[in-house]
Amino acid sequence: MASNYNFAELNLNNWIIRQCATIGVKSPTPIQVNCIPEILEGKDCIGAAKTGSGKTLAFALPVIQKLCEDPYGIFALILTPTRELAYQIADQFAVIGKPMNLRHCVIVGGMDMVEQGIQLSKHPHIVVATPGRLADHLDSCKTFSLSRIKFLILDEADRLLGGHFDDQIKTIFKNLPKTRQNLYFSATLTDTLEKLKQLSSKDVFYYQAPSIS
Ligand code: ADP
Ligand code: MG
Repeated sequence: MASNYNFAELNLNNWIIRQCATIGVKSPTPIQVNCIPEILEGKDCIGAAKTGSGKTLAFALPVIQKLCEDPYGIFALILTPTRELAYQIADQFAVIGKPMNLRHCVIVGGMDMVEQGIQLSKHPHIVVATPGRLADHLDSCKTFSLSRIKFLILDEADRLLGGHFDDQIKTIFKNLPKTRQNLYFSATLTDTLEKLKQLSSKDVFYYQAPSIS
């Protein structure tokens, strides 16, 4: 899975590289090599590579680095199809973001709405959510706003746009600012690729791992 590159060549800050080392992540995977510099340059990104190829850190590392430059309001929204994935993503943000006191919040179904509302009011930097529960908060809480996020990340984008979540995704997109950086990652890319391109800026960087057809 590892590549011949090192993280320093990807323009990541030393403290982020040190945090990666604490969890045994020493050299970047191919999707990380390809996508991280483009994301740091401000481009939208569509990345596809199989499960286990390190897609989470491909977006988490550049988002955390950018967050340090501008830690205001909810900085990034990450949508993912399942609770388990939401917690896994949040864990990786928590570990890497520890030295900068990164605040994150997980918004998934099956948990208390009021408690989640309190978490959202505490100015998290990163919100990791499943679409249904996030849409519920947007519908029910007038003070909760995503209008200033800088990054939208769709993790497992193929599953998110595959039809099952359409209404919730529509509600969420209505609440997002037009100007934002979009990062779309998936293990599979079917006919959603065209949809993702439409949901991106013109200057989107597209990476597809060779093993994906
Ligand atoms: P994906 O989202 O592509 O399925 P994940 O991002 O969940 O994969 O990563 C799978 C596992 O690989 C995680 O435990 C993660 O910590 C680990 N990992 C990610 N990047 C690297 C890396 N560069 N080197 C070693 N392990 C890594
Ligand atoms: Mg993943």
